[in-house]
Order: sequence, then C-alpha cells, then structure tokens
Amino acid sequence: QADRSDTNQRLYLAQQMAAEHFAENLRRSPEAIDYLKNRGLTGNIARDYQLGFALDRFDDLMPALLRQFSEKELLTAGLLTRKDGGKPYDRFRGRIMFPIRDTRGRVVGFGGRVLAQQEPKYLNTAETPIFHKGRQLYGLYEARKASPRLESLLVVEGYMDVIALAQYGIKNAVATLGTATTHEHVERLLRVVPKIVFCFDGDRAGKEAAWRALEQALPSIRDGVELRFLLLPEGEDPDTLVRQLGTEAFVQQVQAATPLSDMLIQGLGERFDQSSREGRAALGLEAVRLLRLMPEGLLRSQIISDIAPLAGVSSAELNERLGKAESRPA
Ligand code: ATP
Ligand code: MN
Ligand code: MN
Ligand code: MN
Repeated sequence: QADRSDTNQRLYLAQQMAAEHFAENLRRSPEAIDYLKNRGLTGNIARDYQLGFALDRFDDLMPALLRQFSEKELLTAGLLTRKDGGKPYDRFRGRIMFPIRDTRGRVVGFGGRVLAQQEPKYLNTAETPIFHKGRQLYGLYEARKASPRLESLLVVEGYMDVIALAQYGIKNAVATLGTATTHEHVERLLRVVPKIVFCFDGDRAGKEAAWRALEQALPSIRDGVELRFLLLPEGEDPDTLVRQLGTEAFVQQVQAATPLSDMLIQGLGERFDQSSREGRAALGLEAVRLLRLMPEGLLRSQIISDIAPLAGVSSAELNERLGKAESRPA
C-alpha cells in the first residue's frame, strides 16, 4: 500500500515536471505560439491552463527528466514510449500540450494536439496508475477554482472548447477526453452542481454524442436536478461559436438550451419513421427501453403521455408495457 502510493507520488511529480518543461518549450517556440495566436488564444489563457509544447523530436523531454527519473518510471508515467522493447523515446512530439488535472489540481496526464493536419489530431496519455481517461473531466479543477460557488456546468467535447469559453468569461465548461459521456461522469458533475448543460459539436458525431449522453443521464433525473442540451449549428463547436457570437449571445443560448425531456421526445421522433405502424412500434419499443432507465415520477408520466401518440398507442398501454418484465422483441 505504502509502496504503491510512493510510486504514485513519483508519477505525479513526473507529470508536473513534464508540464513545466512543455510550458517552457512553448515560450521558446514561435511556431507553436503562432498556432495558438491564430486560433485566437491570448497569452493569459495559455498561462491559466498551463499550455505547453512538445518539440518535434524523439529526445527532448527524455534527457530532461532522466536526471530525476528512471526510464521505467517515465514509461509507466506514459511520457516515454517504445516499440517492442526497443529504446524508449518521447511519446508526445510536435504537439500543443494540455495538462489534465485531477480535482486536487495535480497533473495526471496530457492531451496533445498536432499543429498541422496530421493523424491522430489529438493524442492522450495512455492509461497509467494515476490516469484513467474514462473518468477524467478536463477543466473541472480550473472551473471550481475560478468560481467557488458554481451553479451549473457545461459539458463540451474538446480542450479547445473549454479554453475558448474560459477566455470569453464562460468559466464553467468541462470536457470528456474524446470519450463518450458516461453515467459516472454525470454523477460526478452532479455532486458539484445541480445543473448540467450538454453542448456538443454541430456535426454527426456531436449529435450522436448528445444522444448517448442523454441515455447515460436518464438514471440521474431527480428532484433538484436540471439537465439540458444545446445543439449547435452544423459545422460549429463551442470554440468557433463563442468567437462568432460573443459571450452574451452564447450565454443566452445556453440559458435557452433544450430540457432533457424535450430532447428525448424530439430524438425519438427523428429517429423513427412514424408513417408506418412498424416504425411507430419500433419507436415505442425504444421509448420503453429508455423510460425504464428513468426513475418513476411526475416527469416520467408526462413524457409517457407525450410519447404515446408517437408510438400510436394510448398512455395506458405504454405504461403497461413499462411495467412488464423486460421483454425482448420477437
Ligand atoms: P480542434 O478545434 O483543435 O480541431 P476539436 O476539439 O474541435 O479540436 P473534435 O474533432 O471536435 O476536435 O474532437 C473533439 C475531442 O475529441 C477533441 O478535443 C479530443 O479530445 C477528442 N479527439 C478528437 N480527435 C481525436 C483523435 N484522433 N484521437 C483521440 N481523441 C480525439
Ligand atoms: Mn467534432
Ligand atoms: Mn474545435
Ligand atoms: Mn470540435
């Protein structure tokens, strides 16, 4: 036990030193500074989020950290990598580096974005003893630091979205790290605030992400919890939109975001063909599956009343289906 926590302390220290190294690189790399400037970032916001740069070399971070850490430690930390037991080298090269902090503010890993068009566009730290991608929320530490009494959080897709919004004074955005929103994410956020607005990109992936988030959020519906969705215009993401609209108009859109119940009903309506009985029945079946994820109550009753006509049945019948033991489609 003590042994493991000592190892973890070393890993936190390595991440912190890497973040400082990358930040120092950025100060000396005109091409990386230009990239950030071209994307509209100020030096202040880059400092707030401790943005950095990994030089386009295999041996920049490695020699700097090998003074204090072993190769093995840096491999475990996910800062070095190797091919088939060959010689280790820097994992992140030629990328803008976004340090990812845990709720206590410790750097636990990084996201890195390429400067030019190249694949993969983003590279994250692989799983390590202190970094579990599926659990982290980028920007949560910074959001809590900026406002001790947060009332709502905005869930966005990307690092750049969090940072652009913060630069425009909207300091309550967090991002999942390119993974789908999970039920665990939703519950973690609801321990911090009673209101979440999901704000995904206005593209196909964003729409799918919103629908998945809705499903993950259904079990969390309860008194005092407010869940909304803001679907952005085609081709926009929060970063591009806030720059286009400005703070006030963006905040207005967030305030007018669609309540989860509307989103659920609209989504079902869009995903199924209601012009045929078969389509309406399929809609009903999917509605039953989703409604089962949601706690019983007045809100659920109202949703049932609104969905029943789309499924071509009475509320009573839809309700009865819901009560029945999980039945598989024939
Ligand atoms: P940018 O504005 O810098 O182009 P973005 O955040 O708008 O980036 P999207 O393509 O919308 O990029 O992707 C949203 C998020 O998904 C990214 O911020 C990143 O966390 C993750 N992501 C995107 N592409 C990749 C990839 N190739 N590998 C891993 N994660 C990715
Ligand atoms: Mn996108
Ligand atoms: Mn973007
Ligand atoms: Mn995007």
